[in-house]
Amino acid sequence: MTSGEAPRARLEKKARELVLAGRVRLHGSGGRAMYFSVDGETGEREVSFAPTKGEWSCDCKYSSLKPGHDCSHIIAARLFLSQGAKKADKSSQPRYPE
Ligand SMILES: [Zn+2]
Repeated sequence: MTSGEAPRARLEKKARELVLAGRVRLHGSGGRAMYFSVDGETGEREVSFAPTKGEWSCDCKYSSLKPGHDCSHIIAARLFLSQGAKKADKSSQPRYPE
């Protein structure tokens, strides 16, 4: 029996869907933080990341109820960041025909 996915796995699935649907946007980055907006189920959320501290924060309810736990928005933004880096990498390289 596999009753109940781990909540974490469920959040990650949700996060992946948000990224794939293009609902995560990087809308600013200063010296100390990067800001994302994540168009989640309950509306647009503001996620910020402080690279120097390695700290993520989000303004959703889940995040305020469970400090220290990553919500789907934070996971989505993190995923977006890692994929974006990869994507940028790819597009900067010429495509070779097979
Ligand atoms: Zn959140």
